[in-house]
Amino acid sequence: MLTHELNEGAVIASRQRFTLSCVVPVFNEERLIGRFLRTLHEAARGITPSVNIVVVNDGSSDASAQEILQLVESLDVHYVELSRNFGKELAIQAGLDAATGDCAVILDADFQHPVELIAEMVERWKTGIDMVYGVKARNNESRLKRAASRAFYRFIAGDERVQIPRDGGDFRLVDRKVIDVLKALPERTRFMKGLYAWVGFKSEGIEFEPAQRDGGESKFGALKLAKLALTGITAFSKVPLRALLLVGLTIAALSGLAGCWIVFEALFMGQPIPGFTTLAASILFLSGVQLMAIGIVGEYVGRVFEEAKHRPLYVVARSLPRKEKEATAAVVPAARVAQR
Ligand code: UDP
Ligand code: MG
Repeated sequence: MLTHELNEGAVIASRQRFTLSCVVPVFNEERLIGRFLRTLHEAARGITPSVNIVVVNDGSSDASAQEILQLVESLDVHYVELSRNFGKELAIQAGLDAATGDCAVILDADFQHPVELIAEMVERWKTGIDMVYGVKARNNESRLKRAASRAFYRFIAGDERVQIPRDGGDFRLVDRKVIDVLKALPERTRFMKGLYAWVGFKSEGIEFEPAQRDGGESKFGALKLAKLALTGITAFSKVPLRALLLVGLTIAALSGLAGCWIVFEALFMGQPIPGFTTLAASILFLSGVQLMAIGIVGEYVGRVFEEAKHRPLYVVARSLPRKEKEATAAVVPAARVAQR
């Protein structure tokens, strides 16, 4: 069990001299990554002299790697290259695993998360807050995307004690103890927004104006977002399963009543038993409900299948600058992560 026992005064005192990690997941950002890292480095150095920038190349197929490698020395960047595209959530995890700071800021490489805000996040952290997350003040996404995200949060908030803040994205500062807990979570299905909330600790939102993407294009289309939502729901909520139970019970109760009524009509009122149409409609309806139910249960079974395989979360192809004892291809099994 991870326990943290400093009292508040000691916590605040311990946060005056610190190393700030910045974790940046990168997937095909050749056009802006160089510029972004220089901006980030400057902003971070303005906050503390001890900066640890971790850039995770999530299997980019463009020239992102070359762009980053040019800066490894001059900006003192830790470059972690995954062996293929593992997705943003795992790229962030890889970054947190490599981060050495007393706290880490996670931010996108496309300038949508303003680096100017890091200073304010750090100030809040110094007062004893363990997680400071950016909240979009103005949502400049399409109306459909907004509606879908609202529905998603309402759905997922219906169940658990874990409250996932709306509009609180990946842009956030996390304290070392949050990083340690995240590292110790063994699950493969990593819906980061949910995991941040699950971890708990003192957290606070802080508003920011999301900028437009400063070049390149978004990697999250509607389909990818829908998949992420499904992952989030099946990883964090049992509402669909319970809803199924409710649907089943309701249908059983209603059809029972209808059956009684039909028998009553036939016996006492001389009405003929209604025929083919009712039968066909009810069979089709019930088959539909059953297939849907199997589908939903299947989603959850699929999650169990993913987890049961115990594959490593990601594979590191190379990591620079190389530390002693570090192999070129390092597979990081969750079990080992947990022990660290
Ligand atoms: N990203 C990543 N792996 C992926 C997709 C995206 O590491 O498979 C990174 C991407 O390079 C960027 C961040 O995640 O730094 C956010 O991506 P994007 O801007 O495309 O998402 P959006 O802002 O549109 O939600
Ligand atoms: Mg973006």
